Amino acid sequence: MNIPFLDLKSPYQELKTEMDAAYKRVMESGWYILGSEVEAFEQEFADYCNVRHCIGVGNGIEALHLILRAYGIGKNDEVIVPTNTYIATWLAVTYAGATPIPVEPDQKTYNLDPVKIEAAITNRTKAIMPVHLYGQPADMDLILDIAEKYGLKVIEDAAQAHGALYKGKRAGSLGDAAGFSFYPGKNLGAIGDGGAVTTNDDIIAKSIRSLRNYGSHKKYINDVLGFNSRLDELQAAFLRVKLKYLDTWNVRRRESAKRYTVELKSSRLILPYIPEYSNPVWHLYVVCTEERDMLQRHLSDNGIGTLIHYPIPPHLQNAYSELGYERGDCPIAEELAKQVLSLPMGPHISKEQTEAIIDAIHRFF
Ligand SMILES: *Cc1c(COP(=O)(O)O)cnc(C)c1O
Repeated sequence: MNIPFLDLKSPYQELKTEMDAAYKRVMESGWYILGSEVEAFEQEFADYCNVRHCIGVGNGIEALHLILRAYGIGKNDEVIVPTNTYIATWLAVTYAGATPIPVEPDQKTYNLDPVKIEAAITNRTKAIMPVHLYGQPADMDLILDIAEKYGLKVIEDAAQAHGALYKGKRAGSLGDAAGFSFYPGKNLGAIGDGGAVTTNDDIIAKSIRSLRNYGSHKKYINDVLGFNSRLDELQAAFLRVKLKYLDTWNVRRRESAKRYTVELKSSRLILPYIPEYSNPVWHLYVVCTEERDMLQRHLSDNGIGTLIHYPIPPHLQNAYSELGYERGDCPIAEELAKQVLSLPMGPHISKEQTEAIIDAIHRFF
């Protein structure tokens, strides 16, 4: 059996009729940027996340970047980011001209540890950027309490958490504003790049609408130095189709995750920990073991694709060498980088496939 880490063909096969109709509708409309499809998607995704505003943008990192810009966060400012995340979280801060300040994760959830945040706050700190990593909501109430105490903004990186619930509330509605990515492999994925900001903040929403479109509210009138970061009509039309299936597809991910969790309990793997406040959407199913590299090779020999999220934490990437971090500075993230392994996960992985993966893991240990 050959089981890829991620299957991006089956989603199209399942929705082919509707996706083809969406394509045709936009192609024949003759209107491809900032039109009725984007407007409709923004309304539908805002309703889904239970927020007042959604603004479609070019991709996930731009969503985060434009939020920071809209709040006036930039040069000489600091933003608290997790050590254990995809580098995009940090890069968004860097794009804005601010400095990412790393905080280590909780050892059980792998998400930003609220207990460690206060020690990282200085008089330059302007925001905290928790990531709902792997589709598991961060410990938001504690983070929001700290933010309130110090007057900081909370910007959710919700790029892996479309539909995830924290105490019954949607990711994307928990902080001051949130950035989503619609990169094809995400739980809500486009057929190319795409992203969105969600927020209940009217002023920020207005500002981001301008920033994404050259700093302009009215054609050829430019109030601020803006960017070109727009969700296009074709992607919005595809996303409108896929949004209708997001909950059903997240349920399928939960079923696969449950199978992994129940049947791998007896193995020596450390399995994902789910706090009682969290109803995750399993963007990734991440296990931990000191024998990670050998297990990955064994699974690969059995035709099973896996990935590592992430093999090098941002603070040790060459790109951030000028920040001056060294090996050992963020030991929890560094240890995770050596031990984490993401098993195949997605809305189209079958029961037979997950069972074959589970069998292969049992044969290893
Ligand atoms: C995917 C991702 C992003 C960036 O999204 P793009 O659309 O690729 O720019 C940001 N943060 C996290 C945690 C992600 O997984």
